Amino acid sequence: MHFDTLAIQATHKPDPTTGAVIPPIHLSTKFERDADTYELVGPHGYTRFSNPNREALEQALATLEGGAVGMAFGSGQAATMTLLQTLRPGDHVIMPKQCYFSTPMLLEQVFHPWGLTYTRVEMSDLDAVQASIHENTRLIWVETPSNPLLTLTDLLLIAQMAHEAGALVVADNTWSTPVLQRPLDFNCDIVMHSTTKYIGGHSDVLGGALVFKDGNHELALRARQIQQLGGAVPSPFDCWLLLRGLRTLGVRVRAQQATAQAVAEFLEGHSLVERVYYPGLDSHPQRALAKQQMNGPGAMLSFNVKGDAEEALRVCGKLKLFTLATSLGGTESLMEHRPTIEGIHTMAPANSLRVSIGLEHAEDLMADLDQALKSL
Ligand SMILES: *Cc1c(COP(=O)(O)O)cnc(C)c1O
Repeated sequence: MHFDTLAIQATHKPDPTTGAVIPPIHLSTKFERDADTYELVGPHGYTRFSNPNREALEQALATLEGGAVGMAFGSGQAATMTLLQTLRPGDHVIMPKQCYFSTPMLLEQVFHPWGLTYTRVEMSDLDAVQASIHENTRLIWVETPSNPLLTLTDLLLIAQMAHEAGALVVADNTWSTPVLQRPLDFNCDIVMHSTTKYIGGHSDVLGGALVFKDGNHELALRARQIQQLGGAVPSPFDCWLLLRGLRTLGVRVRAQQATAQAVAEFLEGHSLVERVYYPGLDSHPQRALAKQQMNGPGAMLSFNVKGDAEEALRVCGKLKLFTLATSLGGTESLMEHRPTIEGIHTMAPANSLRVSIGLEHAEDLMADLDQALKSL
């Protein structure tokens, strides 16, 4: 089945008791036991452990990523935290130098004091990755394309390297979504999502997820235990919203991607733009890898304006259609100066801007960018 059909199939399970085509929101925190047998009447007992809305979301996510088991969390960071908690003090993690800023912060500030060791490497440099694998390496973290400069990581080769060393690979698939990239098909073991972004898709719900290729792997079982005992879970309403988001994920992502391609080409040809980072452009150094492991380059891009931070911020200030806000994956186009957000440790050049393309018309966005750039 194609993704779009699968997405509809996986998100529509009519309610057997009422026939409702769209499932109701089960706010109940508790579920009844039978008076005679004292067995639970249904499959659920208590909402921290499981809930019909969360179960529906988790199963749909697992299906769409091609995994065995899905787990939903209250945020992307809660998903990351749960995965790191499955490891033991003394274990070693390989973390990209370039990735979503708060992922390594969690490792550095919370899990390093707790006993995890880690190495930050440039993931597109396979020799550097190989050299950083130790005997106690349990997990290699991959984010491709990476935030904020859209560098790609070869999923197949990293997975091969990890497996030879007895380690697992987790891919943060937030930017690509399973519409454009399915890391488990490229031998990765775990997919992580901030469902806050494209999966929710409307900038109104916070969530995260893990999908395991092998649902019986020790780390999958521990992650489920931590989810149920620790309780960093999304509310039933959030799960319902995320399931709704999944139904339109394919059309949204492809429409946003088509606009991003047009905007990237426009920016690359603009005299006031120094450089564009977008895997849909022939100028992207890993264009071939993008074609190999992605169904499309996505709707995120970055570019450097001619000048410095001051010029980049001036362009931001002149935009009329782009909202100046963090995050990504919603219906509204966003412009962000990552160096301001990330501070001195940023990998983003001072004159770079990151763009999340929404569902506006490409021509209007290009006209807005043009008038803002001409203010330089
Ligand atoms: C937003 C984001 C996260 C963190 O997710 P939250 O839902 O904000 O906790 C992780 N990875 C990537 C790539 C993200 O964009």
